[in-house]
Amino acid sequence: MTEAVTIRGAGIVGLCVATELINRGVAVTLRDPAPSPGAHGCSWWAGGMLAPFCEGFTAEEPVVRLGQQAADWWQAQGVEVIRRGSLVVTLQRDRRELDQFARRTTGHRLVTGEDLAALEPHLADRHDRALYFTDEAHIDPRAALLHLRKRLEDTGARFEQSDAAPTGPVIDCRGLAAQDTLPDLRGVKGEMVILRSRDVTLTRPVRLLHPRFPLYIVPRGDGVFMLGATQIESEEKGRASARSVMELLSAAYALHPAFGEAEVMEIGADARPAFPDNLPRITRKDEMIHVNGLFRHGFLLSPAVARMTAGLVTRENETSELVHEDHG
Ligand SMILES: Cc1cc2nc3c(=O)[nH]c(=O)nc-3n(C[C@H](O)[C@H](O)[C@H](O)COP(=O)(O)OP(=O)(O)OC[C@H]3O[C@@H](n4cnc5c(N)ncnc54)[C@H](O)[C@@H]3O)c2cc1C
Repeated sequence: MTEAVTIRGAGIVGLCVATELINRGVAVTLRDPAPSPGAHGCSWWAGGMLAPFCEGFTAEEPVVRLGQQAADWWQAQGVEVIRRGSLVVTLQRDRRELDQFARRTTGHRLVTGEDLAALEPHLADRHDRALYFTDEAHIDPRAALLHLRKRLEDTGARFEQSDAAPTGPVIDCRGLAAQDTLPDLRGVKGEMVILRSRDVTLTRPVRLLHPRFPLYIVPRGDGVFMLGATQIESEEKGRASARSVMELLSAAYALHPAFGEAEVMEIGADARPAFPDNLPRITRKDEMIHVNGLFRHGFLLSPAVARMTAGLVTRENETSELVHEDHG
């Protein structure tokens, strides 16, 4: 069994893999040029939705299946997991979109009228029906990143601030920076906005199936909401366009007009690392394992992917799912 590994990259993937390895008795060093989880990576900008069933509208079957492990995993690490499900709504004129979403997903039931008003009173004024995904959950991704890092430090993981390539057994979790060795990795830009509104209350994530500007809103508590997210085939990071911000804000306004008076707290953008099939990959080459391509699902799939990776390293519960052998 490998007794010590260096993990390159302390984004959500690196931190989850480190957690699984430490739990199995492997000594871990995490190496990242960023001083803290928020400084460089994509993970800082995530919504924190753990929504495997909704993601099934566009994602492949493994996302739905493996994503169902996420809420329990996060809870077991001591992260606050809010298990209130999620809702999907449309504007009156786009009702067919809701029917189509229902046909192509599982794990939901239709709620109308009083039931919707009981779930989210502020939605019921403008929406008379919704799909309720009862088993979905959400977390605060920034709190989760900081918590995992602190827990790793407390349990003996070493953190080094460096971008140098290490020697010995290495797990490469550099996200999009690993394009230098993973040629088919691409970036998919995502832009987001954080608002504060005292006039709207939502207690669970809500998706609006707007035909032009699909939107989700994740409540972060204390009147704070994350609005996400664009999905653009571009590797540009750090710059949100006026058009994208305008579209996110207008979709939020369509969901509830009180968002028009909300305070804009933050605008962010990054590029999600993705392979052509938008599924994660664990690529093994000699002593090196790459874990990458988490696309829209870093918080949803890292628990399962980290378990699989740790299984390969320790040779317990070895899996071939998502594993690619590179003999080149
Ligand atoms: C707007 C937006 C919303 C999203 N919402 C969700 C959501 O609701 N739910 C969900 O599950 N996912 C969501 N995602 C997707 C999720 O954020 C990504 O899948 C995830 O962040 C990818 O994590 P990562 O660790 O691979 O990459 P990163 O977070 O980018 O981490 C890579 C790390 O590698 C480091 N690094 C770079 N170069 C080097 C080097 N040479 N040596 C060592 N380290 C290096 C970087 O500093 C960084 O810390 C969202 C993404 C975006 C952009």
